[in-house]
Amino acid sequence: MKYQRSSELFSEAQQYIPGGVNSPVRAFKSVGGVPVFMKSAKGAYLTDEDNNSYVDYINSWGPAIIGHTHPLVLQAIQKQAENGFSFGTPTELETEIAKFITENVPNIEQIRMVSSGTEACMSAIRLARGYTGREKILKFEGCYHGHSDSFLIKAGSGAATFGNPNSPGVTQGTAKDTLLAKYNDWEQVQEIFANNPKEIAAIIIEPVAGNMGCVLPENNFLQKLRTICDDNGTLLIFDEVMTGFRLAFGGAQEIYGVKADLVTYGKVIGGGLPVGAFAGTNEVMDCLAPKGAVYQAGTLSGNPLAMRAGLSTLQFIKNEKNFYNKINNTTEQLDFEIGKILNEKGIAHKINRKGSMMSIFFHTHTVSNFDEAQQANHSLFNNFFHQLLDNGIYLPPSGYETWFISHAINDDEINKTLEAVRKFEYA
Ligand SMILES: *Cc1c(COP(=O)(O)O)cnc(C)c1O
Repeated sequence: MKYQRSSELFSEAQQYIPGGVNSPVRAFKSVGGVPVFMKSAKGAYLTDEDNNSYVDYINSWGPAIIGHTHPLVLQAIQKQAENGFSFGTPTELETEIAKFITENVPNIEQIRMVSSGTEACMSAIRLARGYTGREKILKFEGCYHGHSDSFLIKAGSGAATFGNPNSPGVTQGTAKDTLLAKYNDWEQVQEIFANNPKEIAAIIIEPVAGNMGCVLPENNFLQKLRTICDDNGTLLIFDEVMTGFRLAFGGAQEIYGVKADLVTYGKVIGGGLPVGAFAGTNEVMDCLAPKGAVYQAGTLSGNPLAMRAGLSTLQFIKNEKNFYNKINNTTEQLDFEIGKILNEKGIAHKINRKGSMMSIFFHTHTVSNFDEAQQANHSLFNNFFHQLLDNGIYLPPSGYETWFISHAINDDEINKTLEAVRKFEYA
């Protein structure tokens, strides 16, 4: 059996780890079947415990943007490890990466390192609340900002503009401070501001959403948010945990020419080690402890191995000529060719793409928000996922996730992928 070893490992894991995984999406609950246990990764490929290999379109959910286990990053981590794993003191390396990032990303002057995207977003809203002296935040349905309480909120019923807990354990008290709007719904944003005058500390948004599948901002939505924030003394937070260093080195701020007051990072910034960060102008960042009063801390924040992996990944991106052109062109080619094949098969679909992020919705309609993403045919996606998996193509195991195209994907991998899509049978 092709997935024999994975199957055994999953059974064993379930005895000791809740659901057998350390992060829910890995369990294949959405697509069904047994999750594939990986044992190694190199360049564009993953190898599982049964020695099957796959062209990887997840890339650890983004971090492996330059391909897996890149020799430059590997050497940098090895060399760093010889000098110690963690000191709990300041290091020169932390200044080096902070300087490198702030000098190469528009509109940020200081950056604070943390260990995950969740921490980054959680800390950014605390800072926004501390800075503005307000309690409410506005987020968009279908956007994910990590698993801290304030973000695990779903739309309230009827006329209620505040949210309801989206997970047991999140309190009503927390939920009442999170307002929800539909992605791309400018009217609704205006309405919410009108109903909560001078009460909203921040808008937080994925400037290109990747956690409801890939969904793009439309009709200058980001520019409009900038304006309404300016008019109301509200901070605009771009959650660039996915888009940072991916859409461009300067992320969505650079691509869309919209300045955020705070930006959160994760994924690519750590090059595969656990790193997150949040950044902003001196005026806002100076409010953080120890300089300011807003508390935030972390035992392993700025960890030398993690900083080295992040810095060497970012330096590779910066030094590689046409880095973004290449990954964007690969993605465009996949979009175009896969679309052509699905059209020939008469399968209704919509591919959303920005830079090296894309996803396929099996839907007759365009997808511009979470409701529309939900209306797509997800059982057909699940079928598509498994048929591609069996043919050596590793897609995200859910129709609500984005594919992340890496720099290691070349013509060979594209051809393998298209071959697998050609074999796809509508079952
Ligand atoms: C992944 C992600 C997060 C959470 O990051 P973790 O490192 O998983 O905690 C937050 N925001 C966005 C946009 C993400 O994609």
